[in-house]
Amino acid sequence: MKNRRSLQTSLIHSNSLDQATGAVSIPIHHATTFHQQDFDQYGDYDYSRSGNPTREALEKTIAELEGGDRGFAFSSGMAAISTCFLLLSRGDHVLVSEEVYGGTYRMITEVLSRFGIEYSFIDMNNLHEVASSIRENTKVIYMETPSNPLLKITDIEGVVKLAKANGCLTFLDNTFMTPLLQRPISLGVDVVLHSATKFLAGHSDVLAGLAVTKNKEVSERLSFLQNSFGAVLGVQDCWLLLRGLKTLHVRIKESSEAALKIARFLDSRDEVEDVYYPGLSHHAGYEIQVRQALGPGAVLSFRLRSENEVRQFVKNVHIPVFAVSLGAVESILSYPAKMSHASMPRAERERRGITDGLLRLSVGIENVDELITDLKHGLNFIKENVITT
Ligand SMILES: *Cc1c(COP(=O)(O)O)cnc(C)c1O
Repeated sequence: MKNRRSLQTSLIHSNSLDQATGAVSIPIHHATTFHQQDFDQYGDYDYSRSGNPTREALEKTIAELEGGDRGFAFSSGMAAISTCFLLLSRGDHVLVSEEVYGGTYRMITEVLSRFGIEYSFIDMNNLHEVASSIRENTKVIYMETPSNPLLKITDIEGVVKLAKANGCLTFLDNTFMTPLLQRPISLGVDVVLHSATKFLAGHSDVLAGLAVTKNKEVSERLSFLQNSFGAVLGVQDCWLLLRGLKTLHVRIKESSEAALKIARFLDSRDEVEDVYYPGLSHHAGYEIQVRQALGPGAVLSFRLRSENEVRQFVKNVHIPVFAVSLGAVESILSYPAKMSHASMPRAERERRGITDGLLRLSVGIENVDELITDLKHGLNFIKENVITT
């Protein structure tokens, strides 16, 4: 019965009832150690790094939402991603999407490399390139789709097929989509990763990471690594995340609908050179996105002509916060060239389409007409002042 429930209903009712008392909110178990009733046989919990009832409620919830066997909660998205990379050993090779999140790029190039793990960054949207980049020692293919900040779409099933034919595991960072819009495990992915800091928690007030596994052997190895490395999520944050998840459906629905309206509005304006949003039919990955996901999500990017125009636009737009991060109730406007991709050399950044005119908008749940009026105000300022350079 339980499995046939929609995710919308599961978000409210799965694992949110305390079995011991009937409390409708999971208690926060601060205890780090648990009394053992039986001298010979220990109970379900002994020490909170290894297992804690509050964290377990969250881990069961994300496993159920993603359709996996096991869920794991970590102290940040990077802690989740880094711990999963510990599944690799010296001499292994990993294939990574070249548009991967900056922190993941840093972990691979500056940390894993010191432990003898080899890597190649490739265009994951080109299946021929994926196929020809797989080596004998390739153990993991790492995807992130839609990509950041240009929202490029990877054909998940296409990559999974190549991975399975070559005995590689697949990891997928599902932060931008959440399990409500994209369920990678149903497409054959082995490990799903989240920066739960973003949409899952949703309120810009919790730093957290989640991983979900399907494969039994991988589940057991990751459970061992979570306990060994120890970057688990604290119980207060587990509770905040469980609470945030209850409204995920309404937040995603509202902000995705608004994002589509905003993308169309931006597309209609002469001051905007390009709009990148997988919900627009002219987007390069539109058809794959329609096939593999339930919606385009709430993040879009758009290009103005110059840094100067961006500067004037940002000064004249008042509702979104101007900041890094995404996936919150408040709209967040970011400037990749000076924020997420600031450390990348200009030539490399521009080769990836991250020019000085590019802005990213994570649409929140404010009134969409007011958001559009606000953006219009910023664009009108550019139009009236004709400030191209
Ligand atoms: C933010 C982010 C991360 C890193 O997560 P933290 O919670 O900040 O450690 C990883 N992947 C994507 C796509 C992100 O947006």
